[in-house]
Amino acid sequence: MQQVNDRIFTETRWRGCNPSFVVTTDGVVVIDTPQLPTKAVAMRSEAESHGPIRYVINTEHHVDHIFGNYYFKGAGTVVHHQGVHDRFMVVYPELDPFAYAFESVPGPNAKGTDLDDPEGLALWPDRATYYADPNKNGVCFTGDLTLWVGNHTFHLLHTPGHTPGQVAVYIPEERTVFTGDTIFSGCQTWLMTSDVDEWIASLGRIGGLDIDRVVPGHGPVTDKSYLHMQRSVLLDWKTAVAAAVAKGWSREETIKRVNFAERCPVDVGQGYMMDYIQNLNAGSLWDKLTAPQPDPLAGG
Ligand SMILES: [Zn+2]
Repeated sequence: MQQVNDRIFTETRWRGCNPSFVVTTDGVVVIDTPQLPTKAVAMRSEAESHGPIRYVINTEHHVDHIFGNYYFKGAGTVVHHQGVHDRFMVVYPELDPFAYAFESVPGPNAKGTDLDDPEGLALWPDRATYYADPNKNGVCFTGDLTLWVGNHTFHLLHTPGHTPGQVAVYIPEERTVFTGDTIFSGCQTWLMTSDVDEWIASLGRIGGLDIDRVVPGHGPVTDKSYLHMQRSVLLDWKTAVAAAVAKGWSREETIKRVNFAERCPVDVGQGYMMDYIQNLNAGSLWDKLTAPQPDPLAGG
């Protein structure tokens, strides 16, 4: 894995999120697990070569941050926000997360990219085996949570927006924050399960931290200046779709005409998903901006 300094390891070149771990004087803390089975197994053994794993933190409920938990059974305590717990590998009408994860190994659903995981097939559990124990439960919290491990402090800050249970992991001793998908560094932002206003507020909260380094959910390690770029991406999307709604464009017309594909590539291994992201970003924002708001006079 890529070494950020003596104690911080991450990996920005695998399909999926940037799974990371931090080495303390009293064991290792993992932040997000790899989606690809062989990478999950490899990361676990690399992390354990530095000491026992004490905690496995998930920054959100999306597959690319939690699926690999299955391969970390018995390695420390899983910790995540209530919002992650409530949505952990839940099958929704619009998305079956187990099938989605399976796209990255060979089989009937495989999409085939150069960053897929053919050896992962041998490690793949059937659906019933997986769901019997996906390594979901450990510590679940609302608000913020602080863990002290050896000489490090891990502040898990609730930073909703990309997802409801989103957290950022702030380590003051390293002047570093792991933002999860509150930051997509140099790659396309996924908006479909998001609340853009909450997301922008969370960027402001992260901006208040005393840090030199930002480890994003996707894309290269960056610094605080990228918070401005992420805010600009969110505002551009929301403004463009709000303008479309104001012009009376239908959902279909909005999807056809509002598009930020030229802005940057999709994260590694998922280039084939560019249209999918553009369409769902525009469509989900159109849905939110045209939804009737709750009646303020309804009482209750
Ligand atoms: Zn992600």
